Amino acid sequence: MAAPTLVIATHNPGKIRELAILLADLGFTLQTLADYPQCPEVVEDGATFAANATKKALAVAQCTGLPALADDSGLEVDALGGRPGVHSARYAAERTAPARPGDEENYQKLLEELAGVPPAQRTARFVCCMVVAFPNGRTVLAQGTCEGLIHHRPQGRSGFGYDPVFWLPEYEATMAEVGLDIKNRISHRARALAQLKTILADLLRREPELFHPAPPLGT
Ligand code: IMP
Repeated sequence: MAAPTLVIATHNPGKIRELAILLADLGFTLQTLADYPQCPEVVEDGATFAANATKKALAVAQCTGLPALADDSGLEVDALGGRPGVHSARYAAERTAPARPGDEENYQKLLEELAGVPPAQRTARFVCCMVVAFPNGRTVLAQGTCEGLIHHRPQGRSGFGYDPVFWLPEYEATMAEVGLDIKNRISHRARALAQLKTILADLLRREPELFHPAPPLGT
């Protein structure tokens, strides 16, 4: 049987490169949204990471007729009741509108909101949810988390997003200071992907037909 195709539901070249390396041993032929310009943009308006990733993966599986992988991730801060959560990318949007906020604007807003909150109450986690959807509507989901604290000031230059303010007690450093080798071992994304790979390897063995859907009628 030919190698099964998996469509990565993103235009982000960094994400595509990372996933191509990490999924290499499963033997998929990888495609991306760049191969399917006809697929509509999906509005990420779900209340949870799982809802957003599932919505995206299902839309792309339906549009392409192929299994599709989508993810959604962000930061949950306990003292803020889980915010910024699914709004992580646009947390400081009201300050920069109509322009999209940059990483620095987002984490500065977070630091201001947490001013005066003592270290023990600054617990937070990065969360990543990955979903593979099949054209028949079936979905499988994996989730990874990475626990830490929100530091009182930004430190470090690697990574992106909230990494400079995400303190890892076991390394006594922020995520932006530990470097990408460590980040790629402990991150929410790495953990979600490790779980997803186990699920996919099992499905490939037990239900290979899921990965070779019949072409839509009329093609
Ligand atoms: P996305 O769903 O992967 O596009 O992530 C949404 C937002 O969550 C990003 O724009 C970042 O603000 C934040 N985020 C996700 N993953 C990370 C990470 O590994 N480090 C720092 N911030 C992250």
